[in-house]
Amino acid sequence: MVNWMDAHNLSAIACAQGLAVARKLYPSEKTVDNPKHDLGITEVFAWRLAYLAFEFAYPSLADTARTVYEEAPKCLLADSVKYPDPFTYDLGRGTPPFVSSHFQGNFHDVMSIAHEFGHAVQIVQSNNIKLTQSKSLPPVTRECCAFLSELSLLLYTSLYVVPLSQGLLFTWESDSSSYLGPIADVFEKDIADENSRYDYRWNYPLARILSVWLVQNYGVEAFDFAMHQEQSLSDLISACYEEWQE
Ligand SMILES: [Zn+2]
Repeated sequence: MVNWMDAHNLSAIACAQGLAVARKLYPSEKTVDNPKHDLGITEVFAWRLAYLAFEFAYPSLADTARTVYEEAPKCLLADSVKYPDPFTYDLGRGTPPFVSSHFQGNFHDVMSIAHEFGHAVQIVQSNNIKLTQSKSLPPVTRECCAFLSELSLLLYTSLYVVPLSQGLLFTWESDSSSYLGPIADVFEKDIADENSRYDYRWNYPLARILSVWLVQNYGVEAFDFAMHQEQSLSDLISACYEEWQE
């Protein structure tokens, strides 16, 4: 856990503050309106929706989003046995990343594509702004960027694709109840143990709360702000804690 905190420039206090916020934001209502319901839409539509939502929410990154939309190699109908989880794979500078998901047409799959779209934009944008080694994005920030893309989908569908809006919101709340509930439990247990072995899930609770806080405080600039890392994660989480703890 010590290495993970060092890699993120995170203090123990900031982690404890982040956890306190996660507990406070834990959704009390976890009604999910059948997230596996087949919506009768295609993976091509979901990919386009992720793009339209992203450029609507974060217009300063419209060019990067378009590059990802048009040029990223992808397999959105991947074999779920071979590739059980969606992923985005960095192919190196100058080439948009590869995106994989096993889309089956339900709310959860639409949200997953938006999540991976956010990872892909973050990778292309990292190359555009030539992040130096010392400023390369740590996992919490990368997941925060993917969550910001999910939030763009909620915003866009609430305005322009209303029939999908409520189901996607329920899906997001259901995912949040996992990130801020059982996954936060794992995080809390492991930060108390300096010998705990790295678990990628540690990155989710802080990333989830930060994504919401960044949209509330920076709006259309939230994604760009997250990418440029002008403030340390500790400072951001402390600011988030100050604002939401009352
Ligand atoms: Zn992710």
